[in-house]
Amino acid sequence: MTPAETPEAADALLASRLRNAQPALWTNPARQAQHGLALQARGTTISLDDTKAAAARLARFAGLLAEVFPELAASEGVVESPLLPAAALQPALGLDPTSQGRLFIKADHRLPVAGSIKARGGMHEVLEFAEQCALRHRLVQPGGDYRALNTPEARAVLGRYQVAVGSTGNLGLSIGVVASALGFQATVHMSADAKEWKKDRLRQRGVQVVEHAGDYERAVAAGRAEAAADPQCHFVDDEQSFSLLLGYSAAALHLQRQLQEQGIAVDAEHPLLVYLPCGVGGAPAGITFGLRQLLGPHVHCFFAEPVQSPCFLVQMLADSTQGPGAHPSVYDWGLTNRTEADGLAVPRASLLAAELMRPLLSGVFTVADDTLFAQLVQVLDTLGERIEPSAAAGFSGPALLTGTTAGQAWLHRSGVDAVLHQATHLVWTTGGLLVPDAQYQGFVQRGRAVIAAGPA
Ligand SMILES: *Cc1c(COP(=O)(O)O)cnc(C)c1O
Repeated sequence: MTPAETPEAADALLASRLRNAQPALWTNPARQAQHGLALQARGTTISLDDTKAAAARLARFAGLLAEVFPELAASEGVVESPLLPAAALQPALGLDPTSQGRLFIKADHRLPVAGSIKARGGMHEVLEFAEQCALRHRLVQPGGDYRALNTPEARAVLGRYQVAVGSTGNLGLSIGVVASALGFQATVHMSADAKEWKKDRLRQRGVQVVEHAGDYERAVAAGRAEAAADPQCHFVDDEQSFSLLLGYSAAALHLQRQLQEQGIAVDAEHPLLVYLPCGVGGAPAGITFGLRQLLGPHVHCFFAEPVQSPCFLVQMLADSTQGPGAHPSVYDWGLTNRTEADGLAVPRASLLAAELMRPLLSGVFTVADDTLFAQLVQVLDTLGERIEPSAAAGFSGPALLTGTTAGQAWLHRSGVDAVLHQATHLVWTTGGLLVPDAQYQGFVQRGRAVIAAGPA
């Protein structure tokens, strides 16, 4: 090893890139290969059975959802997204299909109702609360037809309860729209960086929007405090909720079927590399939990964060250098937490997600905002798909693994390099469907300007 390649030197380089808001890759030395085990986080044990229970709950509500949301009639109330081949995008990403594997996207940017990955977790938590209320008031029987909730009488009963959430935008959209459609009072506490069109959309659906001057963390804290004072109020806690996380994890069951349908094997000879945009960490952690439980050690999950908001990465570093109890923020690293990827503008990671990911996650990387916009345009031009900036975060993953010293070292250590030509790269595109056209055209303009300016 030359001095520049010692672990100490690599750590120092990573720290300096993080501080300077340059794209960086961290890989997890604590990852373990075993799978299928129940895992403990924050004193609660969860297993694949919990993921299956979440999927079953979503299925119980499908009939009702198809009635309440016209856009779900065609899918009979199932909220799922396609797995799309993305070979046309590989040249732009520098990913050679013959020697470096094939690219797919998991198109959560098309998820109906909420327009983002938040549909999975957010809907699940609202439905779990609705189920508890409905059973308590005998609006439905266990195992009965939940379409019974689609009556003025049932709605009036649920209307005595409130559902509240703190959000940078997309979680609020998901929770607010579903809660109010079922008849709940719904309140969304929004951070200053939340987009106006998201607030407008919620208000149009009868959701109360409370605006906060501070960041995401402040909006969550304000919502949590207000809800704690009201016993009729259920607060969806993005930083601590198992219901959210398990709702997200149900995606793994569906993806497993999609992989089988498309003849994509996942084994030692055919690793699956998954790149997931990360905010507080709940959505990507839930999905990683589900995938590792179901598909085993040959699925490798990487989280993607903006260079100014790498909260999960700094949490993972703190776990190994400062020990348990550390909960650093990106501000501690001299970063601004300012990014156009509003769904990812989170200063401090969920400790639940971090604890759960310690033995499961393969790594975390960061990406500059300009790159998000350029890749959003490349996705439009090659695949015709409309994604929002947050949803582009995963696309830097393959090149970071194949084209950097840190990435190549990981490929070698993990043994993936020997079978890379048979690998599947899966970029999770997490949002976009509901972005108004004027906003989207602005994203495209910025992306085209970045591309025209050439490499920085
Ligand atoms: C919220 C969000 C994420 C990440 O989810 P977290 O649970 O916050 O980590 C990714 N992409 C989009 C578009 C989001 O809205």
